[in-house]
Amino acid sequence: METIFSKIVRREIPADIVYEDERALAFRDIHPQAPVHVLIIPKQAIARASDLEPQHEALAGHLLVVAAEVARREKLARGYRLIINCGPEGCQSVYHLHVHLLGGKQLGWPGID
Ligand code: AMP
Repeated sequence: METIFSKIVRREIPADIVYEDERALAFRDIHPQAPVHVLIIPKQAIARASDLEPQHEALAGHLLVVAAEVARREKLARGYRLIINCGPEGCQSVYHLHVHLLGGKQLGWPGID
């Protein structure tokens, strides 16, 4: 199922892109929940984390490496948080796998209702 994130990958709708390579894209969340809120997505449209299979291992790892690179670019040396929401009970709203990178302030924990 196609989502708005595939349209961002194809540049059919605008986004504030902060990183791109052949497999991944990172752009600022349109409704930021922290001073830095970036979404890291695979260009391949995998719907949700629970759809990951062994053939996605390198890609899934790549998303974490990209998150670290974006965090360096955003100067988050004091720390940050990575979140993947999965499915209805995980509050996922866009069904294209994405990693939230949140930082730029002291975050609370656990931060779940
Ligand atoms: P999730 O709830 O984990 O599926 O997160 C989806 C995120 O995508 C939310 O934080 C939204 O604010 C964000 N979002 C939705 N549409 C866009 C868009 N066009 N550009 C940037 N971020 C978006």
